[in-house]
Formats: sequence, structure tokens, C-alpha cells
Amino acid sequence: MPKIQRLSQGLVNKIAAGEVIERPASVVKELMENAVDAGATRIDVSVASGGVEMIRVADNGCGIAADELELAVASHATSKIASADDLFAVGTLGFRGEALASIGEVSRLLLRSRTAQDPGGVQIEVVGGRSSGVSPCGCPVGTTVEVRSLFFNTPVRRKFLRSTQTELGHTSEAFARIALARHDVHFTLKHNDRELFDMPQSAGWLERIVAVAGRQLAESLMWVESEDGPVRLSGYVAHPSQSRGNTRLQYLFLNGRCIRDRSLQHALGEAYRGLLMTGRYPIAFLALELPPEMVDVNVHPTKLEVRFQDLGRLYSQLLSTLRSKFLTTDLTTRVERSTDEDPTQAIDEEAAGRLRQQVVDWAKGKIESWGELPAPAAAAGDQFGGLPEPAGGARPLELAALDRHWAPADGDEPTEPPSEASPPSPPSSRPSAWPSKALQVHNRYLVAESDEGMVVIDQHALHERILYEHLRQRVLSGAVESQSLLMPEPVDLSPVEAAAALEHAELLARLGMKIEPFGGDTVLISAYPAMLANVSPAAVLHGLVEQLLGEGKAPDRRDLLDKMLHAVACKAAVKAGDRLAPEEVEALLGQRHLIDDAHHCPHGRPTAVVFSREELDKHFKRI
Ligand code: ADP
Ligand code: MG
Repeated sequence: MPKIQRLSQGLVNKIAAGEVIERPASVVKELMENAVDAGATRIDVSVASGGVEMIRVADNGCGIAADELELAVASHATSKIASADDLFAVGTLGFRGEALASIGEVSRLLLRSRTAQDPGGVQIEVVGGRSSGVSPCGCPVGTTVEVRSLFFNTPVRRKFLRSTQTELGHTSEAFARIALARHDVHFTLKHNDRELFDMPQSAGWLERIVAVAGRQLAESLMWVESEDGPVRLSGYVAHPSQSRGNTRLQYLFLNGRCIRDRSLQHALGEAYRGLLMTGRYPIAFLALELPPEMVDVNVHPTKLEVRFQDLGRLYSQLLSTLRSKFLTTDLTTRVERSTDEDPTQAIDEEAAGRLRQQVVDWAKGKIESWGELPAPAAAAGDQFGGLPEPAGGARPLELAALDRHWAPADGDEPTEPPSEASPPSPPSSRPSAWPSKALQVHNRYLVAESDEGMVVIDQHALHERILYEHLRQRVLSGAVESQSLLMPEPVDLSPVEAAAALEHAELLARLGMKIEPFGGDTVLISAYPAMLANVSPAAVLHGLVEQLLGEGKAPDRRDLLDKMLHAVACKAAVKAGDRLAPEEVEALLGQRHLIDDAHHCPHGRPTAVVFSREELDKHFKRI
């Protein structure tokens, strides 16, 4: 065994740095937090090459006095806490006194600062943990920290850095989290001298959310608030028509600090249960205010996670606040309005939407018995008026998604006889048993007779699935039809979106979408997928870019292509609400052979549900 010895301060600092500084975004976070703690009203962040080359954060806060400058960059030196008791009443973002020392250990750090009392500024440089000593310099009141060559002396860490685009994504995210927490502060972010964000001080939180997340998303937000003793929960949650494929847009702020908490995210998901499709996640901007002694923020090196004294109670508060909001809000109407342009259809659509939800829930097995259903809307039309009548003591109608029939593609499937004990499994059928004629109801479902009974098809889901398969085969064989635009169309994107789109231009081209840079954050669409002739090229590009940015880290190329195929298919498919001519219905049903896995649309919703004849007979008390 080698002898035990104390580690040098430099090594201790490097180990500590490893915990706190993982990538450029970590530096941006720590420096911005320091600026906020210093009471700054304006914070300018500027990065080069995603932050790998250079990060500069300038603030107009209180500044650091000349005689404290050495201490500021020393480890375990802080002005924010003095005793152990303070640890449980932390009112600042920082308190560990480690950030500047850690950053200085693994980069070239230059700090310039001046307090309002001092006539001139002072500066200090730290290179790989070695400080140059303090010297005078000219600078305005406040602090500017510049960090260059991050990880120049820790090559292993440097190797872990990803592409500029990915690092910039993390950096923007770190920036956004702090900007969202403090709408009373003016923030700017520049990348390679291009301005990505300029967010002046704003009077309300919503305005800041618009600046970060865009107006379209912000328009779908609903205000929620509640109080439970000293705990206050408030903020915005998105209407279920807006959701994401990941939890990235779930922001939770605890006393002004952006945190992640799996339990509370779970509560959020629970509140939306049944309102979102599988694989989709809610969007939320929520602020929790509670007395500092009710939470321990000193459990995670970057303070991203905290420990609550009574997590169970918070969980319930979050869940019940959202639930009661949803119960008192007519969610259906807004969905319909956003998807259907025709306002005269609103009432009918609303009722139909409710019915659709019931059918979907029913198909998913969510609703045990018809007795629990809200009264079916009479306005929904005669065809459905009498269907879901709760019959006292009657067994619930069974309904089987088509996948149960098609799962085994070969051989003879045993058909179980219907019995009281287990719900009867429907007789086997093959896609060939599908009808070619169907009745369109509510401009969204196709109802048809099938060999075994009756099939109800979701027109959008089926079409989407067909288009997806068609497109996938085309892409794989390199034969996507692309339509050139006579007048190439310029599309304004956000800086991060533009960078992502251009970086993946080749992938987009495989889908038939040709783009090129057009200065600033504008890209030019010169050709786009022919199957999307009815959709505006800009809308298609926006949809695809959302897929590109969906993942925090660089996604696997195949996954990405698949996601893009889904996005295009979804855009191109007929919508719920589109009236179809009989020939169109026939054509749609006629293309079903393109699908070998026809029972789900790419989003995971069933494309069709089957009512077996036995079940119908049973329902009408014929057997
Ligand atoms: P912590 O924030 O946990 O105290 P840091 O290493 O981030 O530790 O900073 C050390 C100290 O340097 C802070 O406590 C603060 O007094 C001072 N400091 C750092 N950044 C700034 C700034 N931008 N403006 C004023 N003071 C600062
Ligand atoms: Mg700090």
C-alpha cells in the first residue's frame, strides 16, 4: 500500500472542479448566478464556439473590493454564508465558495471588478489554478469575468465536449433557466458576436416566458396558483394541445432557483394523465416559494437538486392545483379552435371532441364502465346519441384495438369462445378483411362493416400511418419526391433553430426539404417534400426543426430520421375535421396494404377500434 498523504490544494481543486464544471454551460450558470447574487440589473453573456473557446459574463452589480479579489478566486471563500446555521437559510444562489476557484483551476480566467466606492477597477488572472496577483485596471462599476480555453489542462474533460451546436444548446438552456427565474433583470446572450437573446427587464413573468419560449407556446399557457400554509405555488402550465416529446420544457423554480425534481415532475405528468398521448410530456413554468428552512439546497454540487422537508405534501399540492384547474377549464374547446379553422363548427366539434376522448379512453381501457362516463352530448348527433347509455348492471361493452388481431402474422390464431369470466377476445381477422367503403362521421371517423362486426377508424391516424410507411420506403431507396419552389421562401428562425437546421441540411434534403443560409437567422427553402403540397413550407420547416432540437444531446441519426418522417407524415395527413369525399375514403382504405403494422399511428395512438358482432349482439341483449 502506498503511504497516505494529503492531496495538494491544486489537486483538491481539480477534483472539486470536476463536480461543478462539466461543460461550458456550467461556467455560464455559475457566473450568471454570481451576477444575480451581486444584485445586478443587467447581465450580458457572450460566448464563442458554444463557450468552448470563450465565455464572458459582465454585470453591473456591487463589484468586489480590491482587497477581497484574491479571496474571491480562492476555494471555500464566500461572502454569502458565515456559519453552519446559514446553510439552512440560504437566500442567495451561491454559497459554497467554490465556483470561481474551480473555473480558474481548469481554464484561463480573467476577472475585472469595481465597486461604486472605488475610483478605479482591479483585475486578477488565474491560469490553471495559478493566480497572477491583483493589479489596477480601468472598468465600469460591476464585474466582468472572462473564461478562455476551458479544460486546456484537463484533456480528458475536453474530449467529452460535443459539437459547437450541442454545447451552445446547453449554454442557451443554462442562460434561459436563469433568465426565466429573474424577469426583473435585463439579460443578453451573444454567440460569436451574433445576438441570440435580448430580454429587457419586464413587468411580468409571462413576458419573459414569451421571450424565452416564443409567443405561440406562451399563448397556450394557463395561470395556476395555490397556497398551502407557508407554501405558495404559482405559474403557468400549457394547454394539452401543446406538449413535447421530452421534459425539457418543464421548469420548476424554487425561491428563484431553477431545480429538477423527479417526484414533482411525476406529479405534473399525473395531472395530465389522459390528456396527452403516450410519449408526450406537459409543458410548465412553475414557481414554488417556501421558507428556506423547509428545504435543504446543499445536497447537490450544482444545486440542481434539493431535498424537501415534506415532499409528499408538495406532490399533492401540485397535483390537486392542476387537477382542479383542468376540471374548471373547458379544455376541449381550445383544442378544437386551434385545429379547426371554421368557427361555425365549434359546438358540434366540441361535442365530437368529447366523444372522441371517451372512445380513446375506452379503447385504452381507462374507463371501466360506461356508467362512469359523463353524459354523452346530445349535440354530438343522432348517430351517437344513444350509444353510451349506462345500462344498470349491464356488462360494459368490450372493444378491442386492432392490434390484438394482427399481432401474430402467421398461422392459425385460436379463437376463444366468449365467456362471462374473461372478456371475449375478438375473432381473428386479417387486414384483407377490411372494408373498402365506410361512412364518415363527424368528419373524423370512418365507420364500416367488417367481417367480424364493425370497425371505427381514426382517419388522421390511419392516413398518417400510411404516409409514414410510404415516405420511409422512399427515403430508404433515395427516391423522395421533392418540389422546387419557383420563389424560394425565406423563413425566420431563432438563432439556435437556424444553427440546428443548417447543421442538418443534408438530413433534411433526404426528406425532400432543401435549405440554405440566407443571412442572420434566416434560411431559404428552395425545395420541399412534394407530399406536403398543401402545407406551408415554413410550417413544415418549423415542425422538422422541433424534432431536431427535441433532444438535449445529439440524437442518434436513425432515431432522428424516424422522428422527422413522423413529423412530415403527421403534417401531410388528413386532419380530424377534414371532410372526405367517398372516393377519398375508398382510396384511404385501399392503401392500407402499405402498412404492415397498421394498428397504430406513429404517435402510438390506435388507428382503429373494432366492435365485434358478438359484443353488439350482447349489448342489444340478443345473446
Ligand atoms: P459563491 O458564489 O458560492 O459565494 P463563488 O466562487 O462563485 O462562490 O464566488 C466567490 C465570491 O466572490 C462570492 O461569494 C462573492 O462575494 C464574490 N463574487 C463572485 N462573483 C461576483 C460578482 N459577479 N459580483 C460581485 N461579487 C462576486
Ligand atoms: Mg457562485
